[in-house]
Amino acid sequence: MNDLRIRSLRWRLVLASVLVEVVLLGILVLNSHRLIHGALIEQAQARLEEMGPLLNASLAAPLAERDLATLVDLLRESRRERGIHYLVLRDHAGQVVAAAGWDPARPLPAAESHGPRDDDDARYDTTLPIELAGQRYGTLHFGLSLAFLREAESDLLRQSLLIAAAEVTLSVVLLTVIGLWLTRHLARLTEAARRIGRGEFGHPLPVTTGDEVGALTGAFNAMSAEIRDHLRDLAASEERYRRLAGAEQRERARMGALLSAMNIGILFEDEAGDTVYVNPAFARIWRIPEGTALEGTPARDFIRHSPNVLARPDHFSRHLLQVTAASEMSESFEIVLADGRLVSQITFPVRGDGDRIIGRLWIYEDVTRERQTAEQLIYLAERDSLTGLYNRHRFQEELNRMLAAGERRGRRGALLFFDLDEFKYVNDTYGHRAGDSMLIRVAGEAGTLVRRNEVLARLGGDEFAVLVEDADEAEATGLADRIVRAVSKIPFRIEGQNLRLTTSVGIALYPDHGTAAEELVSHADAAMYQAKDAGKNAWRVYRPDLDESRVQVSRMNWRDRIRRALEQDLLRVHFQGVYHARGRGLSHLEALVRMADEHDPTRLVLPGHFISIAEQSGQIIDIDRWVIARCVEVLAAHPDLRAIAVNVSARSFDAPGLAGEIADLLSRGGVEHHRLVVELTETAAVSDLSDAQRFIESLQRSGCEVCLDDFGTGFASFAYLKHLHVDALKIDGMFIRDLPSDRDNQVLVRAISEVARGLRKTTIAEYVEDEETLRMVADMGVDLVQGYHLDVPRADHPALGGRARATARAGAGGPPAP
Ligand code: C2E
Ligand code: CA
Ligand code: CA
Repeated sequence: MNDLRIRSLRWRLVLASVLVEVVLLGILVLNSHRLIHGALIEQAQARLEEMGPLLNASLAAPLAERDLATLVDLLRESRRERGIHYLVLRDHAGQVVAAAGWDPARPLPAAESHGPRDDDDARYDTTLPIELAGQRYGTLHFGLSLAFLREAESDLLRQSLLIAAAEVTLSVVLLTVIGLWLTRHLARLTEAARRIGRGEFGHPLPVTTGDEVGALTGAFNAMSAEIRDHLRDLAASEERYRRLAGAEQRERARMGALLSAMNIGILFEDEAGDTVYVNPAFARIWRIPEGTALEGTPARDFIRHSPNVLARPDHFSRHLLQVTAASEMSESFEIVLADGRLVSQITFPVRGDGDRIIGRLWIYEDVTRERQTAEQLIYLAERDSLTGLYNRHRFQEELNRMLAAGERRGRRGALLFFDLDEFKYVNDTYGHRAGDSMLIRVAGEAGTLVRRNEVLARLGGDEFAVLVEDADEAEATGLADRIVRAVSKIPFRIEGQNLRLTTSVGIALYPDHGTAAEELVSHADAAMYQAKDAGKNAWRVYRPDLDESRVQVSRMNWRDRIRRALEQDLLRVHFQGVYHARGRGLSHLEALVRMADEHDPTRLVLPGHFISIAEQSGQIIDIDRWVIARCVEVLAAHPDLRAIAVNVSARSFDAPGLAGEIADLLSRGGVEHHRLVVELTETAAVSDLSDAQRFIESLQRSGCEVCLDDFGTGFASFAYLKHLHVDALKIDGMFIRDLPSDRDNQVLVRAISEVARGLRKTTIAEYVEDEETLRMVADMGVDLVQGYHLDVPRADHPALGGRARATARAGAGGPPAP
């Protein structure tokens, strides 16, 4: 195509030049033809003028003599020689005398007077008077042939045309050659341009001339270099873009995987309010059928694609209006579905460049389970998990409320305490499962006896209490009597045996027997013992006179026993292993104190008998110090043992300086501080949060670890966790003991383990009594386990080896208990 155009350009140039040349040559030829023609006419004229005298001279004499024969000869002669067409001679009378080349019968053409004409006529007709010596003898008519003129003329014209044609041919050849020579650079440029078009950049074209073509070649070279650089830049940026696009794609894939794996439903909405993206969890939560294309549809309409019906659609739309008007993150809004599920919704605007809102993100989460768990936790927090009655915590609240109301309105009230007379025997003989089923029956029976406004609670073990508002003594004793009778009538059949249980009820009246909660409780408790002393299966109203003697005596006795045990070195330490739930290897030991009987040191008294008395009397501080000192000795003697946990009572950490003493003791014994773990009971810690936190912090500063014991027994255990920065939680044994059969406890243990993991705290399960429980707590993510299934507390724990025994005995000053 380019080639054609160039060729046509070249040919046009040649054609134009040839045309110009042809026109000029034509004009030239025409002009010379005209000139030649004129010259020839003139020549004919001259010939006529010179012919006249000659003809006259030759014809005059014969005509005068009338020599016709000569005349005819002469005419014939003249016609032949002179190129004359015809000759007719007439005498003076007009008679034709002689003729040559003319039929005398024919009329003669008229003579022309103005000489030969400048036209195509090949003959010139004229007349000549024939005179001799002034006498006219006749007239000669003759036609002069002009054919020779025309011939000469056309000869000349032919020659001129030939020359012109030669000239034109030469010009064409020359112009073509020049055209070719001129356009050869253009052709080269065309070829180069075509190569560039194919992406082949060769060397720059040589600039050989200084003319326009040279300038064009230079410009072309510059342009091609520019294009090549641009293309190179383009290729580089394309490569960069491809790499970026690759990274973006990978990023997108990762993001996609993350969004797909999430349990939280996500919806992105664009500026126009249309859905841009939803993740699989979104479709799952809203049960939107697979394959439904939400993208591009109005985001607020997604609910139409969901088979779920909102329980409160008006509520939902009102909330939507409210949150979409706001430009901040919304509060979490809970959408209740007709199927009972609960879905939380949060939304916030997505901002792009320059803080411009470019859409909105909606986050949905099915929180049904969490809410159920939370409700369950609240339930567990105030209910006894075995019987479903109120627990000690709720009881305490109700008691305080009753006392406050009583004081305000001057009302009376009663507090009933009861436990099962032979419960310990049943429990020890038939196992705690039998004991538990008994407790459940009793709770059920008592539940039928109390009225709506009365509060029945299980305080722990086999201890129950009833709060009766607005009651006088008669009403209280009436209820007590019904309870005693009802319990005694419950038939139990365990292992083929019929058992009958009895209960003893103690009654304390408000305000007669006390106005403070503790007072009332302890008096109801005392009244219960008065009933037992009276032979059990009975009720008693509190009598201060009986109380004093009994409690006081036994308390005094125990205090003295503890004092003597401290003085006479009758305390012993037993060790129980704490193991890893998964690997089952030993983590550390827990130290548990025992008291040797002063009369029979092989008989050991368990801490349940003396710890609470020692706590009341303050002797616990000395007991705890003694145990800690023993443990530091054991740790020093067993460098391979990772750690020992000691129990420290609330009274002990009330005493200032204990944390410092512990640190000194460890340093003096050359024991790394982290090898001592201090266990505080949760209830003790919670009863005085700030003291507990101070103590915990100073222990941790010195390097000791701190474990919250009996976790889960205190109210709102989770809430307090935030304030108590402990390293470990020991889940109370009452949640673990029956774990495989107790679904409530399973929920709770799982919740504790999850919360603890979230807070990076170690969890320990105590009272692990069988393999099934161990597996279960391990599955729930509990880290460490302790219990009879693994080992029982003993002085000569295998982890202590031979040397430990020597040390423990040396310290204990007596043989270990079986
Ligand atoms: P604790 O700290 O919760 O100790 C665990 C108790 O559960 C121990 O009772 C242990 O013998 C028992 N136990 C361990 N595994 C099982 C099991 O699988 N099933 C059952 N049913 N029980 C198991 P122990 O030795 O009678 O101690 C009772 C409580 O006395 C301790 O509860 C602790 O609060 C307190 N105590 C023990 N030694 C000391 C001490 O040196 N100082 C202080 N302040 N309190 C101590
Ligand atoms: Ca403990
Ligand atoms: Ca415990």
